Amino acid sequence: MIKRRHTRTIKIGNVSIGSGASISVQSMTNTVTEDVVSTVRQIKNLESYNCEIVRVAVNTAEAAKSLKDIVKRVNVPIVADIHFDHRLALTSLEAGVKGLRINPGNIGDKKKVKEVASACKDSGVPIRIGVNSGSLEKGVLDKNKGDFAAAMVESGLKHIKLLEDESFYDIKISLKSTDVLTTVRGYELLAEKVDYPFHIGITEAGTVFSGAIKSGVGLGILLYKGLGDTLRVSLSDDPVMEVIAGYNILRDLGLRQGGIQLMSCPTCARAEIDIVSIAMEFEKISARIKSGIKVAIMGCVVNGPGESMHADVGIAGGKEKSVLFSGGKMIGKYDNKDILKALIQEIENITGEKIN
Ligand code: SF4
Repeated sequence: MIKRRHTRTIKIGNVSIGSGASISVQSMTNTVTEDVVSTVRQIKNLESYNCEIVRVAVNTAEAAKSLKDIVKRVNVPIVADIHFDHRLALTSLEAGVKGLRINPGNIGDKKKVKEVASACKDSGVPIRIGVNSGSLEKGVLDKNKGDFAAAMVESGLKHIKLLEDESFYDIKISLKSTDVLTTVRGYELLAEKVDYPFHIGITEAGTVFSGAIKSGVGLGILLYKGLGDTLRVSLSDDPVMEVIAGYNILRDLGLRQGGIQLMSCPTCARAEIDIVSIAMEFEKISARIKSGIKVAIMGCVVNGPGESMHADVGIAGGKEKSVLFSGGKMIGKYDNKDILKALIQEIENITGEKIN
């Protein structure tokens, strides 16, 4: 059982973030924000995969204005991601966003910080301070003798202080590096200094394959140490893949329960059916399932029946026919061409959810 670090709890819309709540999964759109139709379509798709918070880049006045339309047409809370221009933050708040990602040290004088903090207070909107090792302010790295983790912490504390000076404490913070161990050490150091919730991630982690592995390692270490209250897996791919990867990491650590937990065999000379295609196809079409269910997809009758009987639902491949198990019992034999369909039907029966 993982013991989470004790933190304050903040709220992004209806999603609580902090040690008193589940670790939430978020993603970020990669459409042009001003293109409201495409942005809403992407957010709706993310919602269907149970993405709990969506961040949207707000880099122009037009993008900030578009938020009004976007927010109205989606259900998930939207966080506006802003750099430098505090006016974009104010417009985004007026548009109804539920969170801001903005570093107060980057928006200019104290008056502007005060304006943003006060508008956030009025609308009950928290601020995420997002420190990135690639964009540390001048001098902080030298001061910390090239130690990126320590430099990120110093930078984060400076931003926090600016908000605390305005009596603003509705804060979460991220310290992200592309290097796993630097990221971990940064969060460990910061955990000794503040009790604000952590948004965790490994920045610019890579493609769906390398990035999911890197994020799994980095976020896995952090979460195992109890550090992390909301996460984003950053991938060069469809943002939906970030959500799927995020839930997989949490599920594998026992930190979230819903969704499919898939066991599939690597296949060997004993395999009687094309397990690779079946498992890939199944993973693709079942990712929206919300109920927690263990599924085994096994290639033969050597290990297949054992694993399948221990899962909620499973198949064991045979020469022409494969066996379907449910609740620890064999419930039918199907031609190999029909076994995936039978597996899906049984999952739909158990969960009451429609897979396709
Ligand atoms: S379940 Fe059967 S086919 Fe799959 S790896 Fe094990 S022995 Fe090989």
